[in-house]
Amino acid sequence: MTTVIYPEWLVDGTGSAPRSGYALAFAGSQIEAVAPASELSPAEDDTVVRAPGATLLPGLINMHVHLSLASDNAPFIPYMDAHSDVALAMRAAHNAAAALRAGVTTLRDCGSRGRSVLDLRSARADGLLQVPRILAAGPALTISGGHMRPFGGEVDGVDGVRQMVRRLVSDGADFIKVAGSGGGTPGSLTDYPSFSVDELRAVVETAHGLGRRVTVHCTATAAIDRAISAGVDSIEHGYFGAPGNFQAYDPRLTEQLAQMGVSVTPTLQVFRDMADVLPPGAERDFWHTRRETLLTNAGRLHTAGVRLTAGSDAGWRFTRFDNYARELQEMASAGLSALQVIHAATGAAAEATGHVSDFGTLQPGLSADLLLVDGNLATDISHLAAVRRVYVEGHLLAGADVAPE
Ligand SMILES: [Zn+2]
Repeated sequence: MTTVIYPEWLVDGTGSAPRSGYALAFAGSQIEAVAPASELSPAEDDTVVRAPGATLLPGLINMHVHLSLASDNAPFIPYMDAHSDVALAMRAAHNAAAALRAGVTTLRDCGSRGRSVLDLRSARADGLLQVPRILAAGPALTISGGHMRPFGGEVDGVDGVRQMVRRLVSDGADFIKVAGSGGGTPGSLTDYPSFSVDELRAVVETAHGLGRRVTVHCTATAAIDRAISAGVDSIEHGYFGAPGNFQAYDPRLTEQLAQMGVSVTPTLQVFRDMADVLPPGAERDFWHTRRETLLTNAGRLHTAGVRLTAGSDAGWRFTRFDNYARELQEMASAGLSALQVIHAATGAAAEATGHVSDFGTLQPGLSADLLLVDGNLATDISHLAAVRRVYVEGHLLAGADVAPE
C-alpha cells in the first residue's frame, strides 16, 4: 500500500533548498516518488497524510551515541562494573526507543561492551524491536589503561589491533571505533594521543580490507594529527587539546581534514548539558568555557570546508536520547545555517557511514525514513523539537500525531 504525504515544505537532506508544493509517496519500506503535488494522484485505497504548516525531511541520524549508558553522569567504571551485558542491552533498547521521539531514525553506537549493542542491532533487524536503525561498533579499540576500556577493547601493538579488528568484524561490527586519545575515563589522558600512527594504520588497513570504515575519538590535537596520517575515515569530537591547554587549535590540521575529506562529528551537546545542569560554581564555569571554545572551533572547521556530521554523544554525562534538537541547535550556534545543520544530520551523515544509497535523503529507492515537524525548519532549526511524526523504513513509529488515517 502506498502512503502519500503533502507537507508545506520538503527538505530532502542533500543540502538543497526547501521546496513548497511537493509531495512524497512511499510504499512498503521504500520511497517511490518525490514530485510536485499536482503530479502525484493517490489511488482510492492509498493513505493520504496532509501536513499543512509542517516540514517533511529525512529521519535524523545521530552519528555518536552510547546506547548502553544512562545519561545520568554516573561514574563510568562503577556503572560498567554494576551492569551485566544483558542489563546494558535492555538500557540500550530503552534509549533507542527514546531517540525515536526526537525524530532519530538511525543511531551510530560508538562504543559498548561485548555484544550488548551488536545483539540489539541484530534483534532489531530480526523485527523483534521497533527502534531506529542501529550501526554498531561494539567495543572501541583502546590502549592499555585507555579511554572506554570498560567496554573491553584494550589492545596494544600492530598485531594486537589487527587481531581485534578481525574479531570485531566477525562479531558483526558495522564500523570500527578507536580511542585515539584519552577521554572521560579515569586514568586515561584526554590531552595526549594514544595509539601510534603505525597502530592506527594497521587498524585502517585491516578494517578497510574487510569493508569497514574507521572513526577515531580525538580530544587532543596530536591525536587528530596521527589520525590524519593514518588515513582514517572520520573523527569524533575533534577537540584541539594539548597538555595544560584546551585551546591548541591548529589551522594546518583543519586544512588537511578539508582537503582529505575526513568528516568530523563535533559532539557539542554534552558541554551545553553539563553547563545547564550543574549548579553555579567552578565546575560549571569550566564546562561553560569549554563549550564556548568548542563552538568556536566547530565554526572554524565548518568555515574551512571540513564536512561536519551531527552526533550528540548521548548516554555520556547528562546527554539524553530524546532531545537531539539540542545538539543541532549547538551546530547552528557554531555558525551553520539551518539547512546545513539538517544536511549534517541526514545526507552528509549517511555519506560518512557509507550508506548514502540506502537512507538519509528523500529520493526514490531509498528507505522511507521520514520526519514531519511543525513549522518551517529551514528558517529555524528549533522546530526540530516539535516532532509530529516519525517513520522508519515506512513504519509509523512515533510522534505527537500517530493516529491512523
Ligand atoms: Zn562518545
